[in-house]
Amino acid sequence: MPANPGADPRDVRADLHSHSMISDGTLRPAELVARAHEQGVELFALTDHDEIAGLEEAVAAASRLGLRFVPGVEVSVSWGSTTLHIVGLGINHRDPGLHERLAEVRAGRVRRAEEMGEQLARVGIEGAFEGALIYAGNPQMISRTHFARFLVETGHCRDVKDVFTRYLVEGKPGFVPHAWAALDEAVDMIQDAGGVAIVAHPGRYKLNELALHTLLGEFRDLGGTGLEVATSNHSERDMRRFAELAREFGFEASGGSDFHGPGESENVELGRVARLPADLTPVWHRFV
Ligand code: AMP
Ligand code: MN
Ligand code: MN
Ligand code: MN
Repeated sequence: MPANPGADPRDVRADLHSHSMISDGTLRPAELVARAHEQGVELFALTDHDEIAGLEEAVAAASRLGLRFVPGVEVSVSWGSTTLHIVGLGINHRDPGLHERLAEVRAGRVRRAEEMGEQLARVGIEGAFEGALIYAGNPQMISRTHFARFLVETGHCRDVKDVFTRYLVEGKPGFVPHAWAALDEAVDMIQDAGGVAIVAHPGRYKLNELALHTLLGEFRDLGGTGLEVATSNHSERDMRRFAELAREFGFEASGGSDFHGPGESENVELGRVARLPADLTPVWHRFV
């Protein structure tokens, strides 16, 4: 039963996408939860990349503060040559099967990072692997974000945006293709752990209209539930576009800041999530 029968779930300040230092964020899970609470978030999800080890701490911190909390994860997926992120919400974070399946998704990150370091060395950037590792709170989850922090900190790049223009992306030094989970595996592992699957930040993928429709059709056929319509990285135009696609495919809509840490990106803050159009069903109707 909803806590407030009849209340509009859109009035709940929800932020259903965020990261802690368990993946590529900079705050501890408990610090992140405290910050969400300070920022006025009323329903909060921690969705670390490919790892759920931060959820126990986050659940405890949220319970102390009386903040409603949704255990989540963001699974890395390879769909053809495109990397996608699928957010799982409402998962049982104690599910041993989910732990095992995520460990498989994480495997290979260290080897990939070593190769990224070797590539960067070839263009004159020495010590990137070791440098990135310093920023990785969890070495098994070393990611491009940690390389980005190293490249900015050492003055090779102006900011993170500069990094993802000149390095670490396809065709640029430091890009190492990787086989993540398959789309069906990601949806299954989320659903088998009791969660619902959401396509994260769809505006980020370089897919043409046809490919995007194919993806969303496949995702729906696999039992996918929603589309992240509101995310920091969407413009108003993106939001309108993905709201329309949510209508077309019958998806529920999600929203989250994708916060990684204080000062990490301009205008990204916990709870700073655009309001969804009135006719969409917010995925958080399930959690309030
Ligand atoms: P990885 O899982 O190692 O491929 O790293 C992916 C992470 O890099 C994402 O979760 C983001 O945190 C970060 N990232 C990727 N592309 C960008 C971008 N264009 N701007 C800022 N951060 C990005
Ligand atoms: Mn990230
Ligand atoms: Mn993502
Ligand atoms: Mn994210």
